[in-house]
Amino acid sequence: MKVVKIGGGCLKGKKTIDGILDLVEERGPGNIFVVSALNGITDILIKGMADALVDESTIAPLMGRLKNKHMVVARHIVRDTGHLKRFSKDLNTALLKLERYYYGLNFTAEISPKMRDTISSFGERISAELLSAAVLSRGVPSACRMPHDIGLVTDGKFGDASADLEVTRKNFKKHLTPLVGKKVVLFIPGFYGISENGDITTFGRGGSDYSAAVATVAMEAGILEFWKDVAGFMSADPRIVSDAELIPVLSYGEAAELCYFGAKILHPRAVEPVRRYGLDIAIKSTLDPDTAGSLITSESPETEQVVKSVTQNTEIGILKIHASGMGARPGMLATVVGCVTDKGINIKSVVTSQTCISLLLDYGDLETGYSALKTMDPMPFRSIEKEEDVALLGVVGEGLSTRKGVAGRCFTAMDEAGVNVEMISFGPSRVALYFIVQKNDLKRAVRAIHKTFFA
Ligand code: ASP
Ligand code: MG
Repeated sequence: MKVVKIGGGCLKGKKTIDGILDLVEERGPGNIFVVSALNGITDILIKGMADALVDESTIAPLMGRLKNKHMVVARHIVRDTGHLKRFSKDLNTALLKLERYYYGLNFTAEISPKMRDTISSFGERISAELLSAAVLSRGVPSACRMPHDIGLVTDGKFGDASADLEVTRKNFKKHLTPLVGKKVVLFIPGFYGISENGDITTFGRGGSDYSAAVATVAMEAGILEFWKDVAGFMSADPRIVSDAELIPVLSYGEAAELCYFGAKILHPRAVEPVRRYGLDIAIKSTLDPDTAGSLITSESPETEQVVKSVTQNTEIGILKIHASGMGARPGMLATVVGCVTDKGINIKSVVTSQTCISLLLDYGDLETGYSALKTMDPMPFRSIEKEEDVALLGVVGEGLSTRKGVAGRCFTAMDEAGVNVEMISFGPSRVALYFIVQKNDLKRAVRAIHKTFFA
């Protein structure tokens, strides 16, 4: 048995979705499919909250838009009127509930974390029901189970929950094993689970990947497949490096670092549960399902050139906090970090020296972090500076920290390309090093490093 994650990126356009359902029909019976919302729906749900908060007249059109977006697809992929009618009825029920939540938040003039999670989970709930209806309409046995039906239990942390793997495993075995045995195509919405109090709690944006990993572990599935609209992990972004190569095998560590530093293939958290139980992950393209794609497993062959991939992230920024003798002052780092994380900001990386602490943040968090530190009273440092025009370049490969000369070759490549390196971090990870460069220099830097190792 396997668990398959179908991403929102390929749930786009009725013809594409119909094509994916051909694959599901052929390869699906007896397997579990964890699905994302249809492309763009989660964004619409989230944006709708901000609109509804200030203006209740936005709610009715929003409902109309959501209904329309799903029905256009449903009319194409659900092949008989019986199943179409049933889906349409279920959709209306869901939208009626959703509408009440939106009015509720307008009425209370507040978007609580609980409300945010409940509302944003609707995309997945609807898509799982839709795909199951479509499979049934093809005459193939299928079922859809919601996280509260099957006991996908979380720690209750809104917006960033983690699953209780032990409890979930017991529940899944009880509720899902009989269905899998009957060879049905089983759909589960990704993105959220249920807390012990019965609240919907999401795993964060992109969290359906994590849901799929949880289902894989809970069911002790042989493999977790990600069906995507890309072939797999590449040695560089093909939009920057035209001769980038597919990476056939990666270690868990390599995959996690690549995702953490910018490759938008998997949610970085998806690797963790699977790694803990030593299960494999395969990335497959729905456009070319018979080619191998990338396999993520416990060991990855150390290649001749050591480096497997050069990745980049332009959605970052840096806060530089200056003070003299900072490196020797006990508690300074904790104070600064605490001030930023109190705002709910995730710090991606920290580099310190005697006179400066550099915090690497998501670009979207930069301003909030900056203001938080600026308004500290008393201000425990001399000055603070934000760098916005920077990008991160990550170099990933098993053996990187033990093989001589890798960092040196990167520096030489960038020097020859006329790129100035602003910051470097090497050491915390066995398999990754990263550089911060000016955004303008990024493409040149990526090409130069890729050429050095892959020419
Ligand atoms: N639909 C959710 C999101 O857009 C979860 C996911 O697709 O993984 O973040
Ligand atoms: Mg996704």
